[in-house]
Amino acid sequence: MSNRTFTMIKPDAVRGGNIGNILQMINAAGFKIVAMKYTKLSLEQAGKFYEVHNARPFYGELTEFMSGGPIVAAILEKENAVADFRKLIGATNPAQAEEGTIRKKYAASVGENAVHGSDSDENAKIEGDFFFNGLERP
Ligand code: ATP
Ligand code: MG
Repeated sequence: MSNRTFTMIKPDAVRGGNIGNILQMINAAGFKIVAMKYTKLSLEQAGKFYEVHNARPFYGELTEFMSGGPIVAAILEKENAVADFRKLIGATNPAQAEEGTIRKKYAASVGENAVHGSDSDENAKIEGDFFFNGLERP
């Protein structure tokens, strides 16, 4: 069990003006922000980040969407971070997300679902390293 996870506020949520609202929900749930940046992925970088999905039918749509506007990337700290954050964001498809979750509140569809959350300790480390160097990540 690790105490860190990685998140992105996706282009739909940035475009919708929901950075502040989502960060507030993250803080209210007890997560501490240990690194954060506002940036934009190229199509190639989005493809690399979501490489595990490259055989899925939605890969093209996903990488176009994720490179289509700015995002906020962050490393979060809390006991049991990965599992607790997945609980906070809710199901991939917002129609199935529970009340009180970030996706229930701010996601419009399975493709444009407001936030990313790492699915394992191993991927949290890989994804954090993708965005932040040692200086940027205390
Ligand atoms: P994320 O990895 O972004 O936190 P997730 O772990 O809930 O999301 P994954 O199965 O890893 O879901 O899928 C990665 C992303 O691919 C989803 O968040 C969504 O944006 C997109 N996606 C997944 N399934 C579909 C689908 N059926 N149609 C369109 N896009 C999809
Ligand atoms: Mg995932």
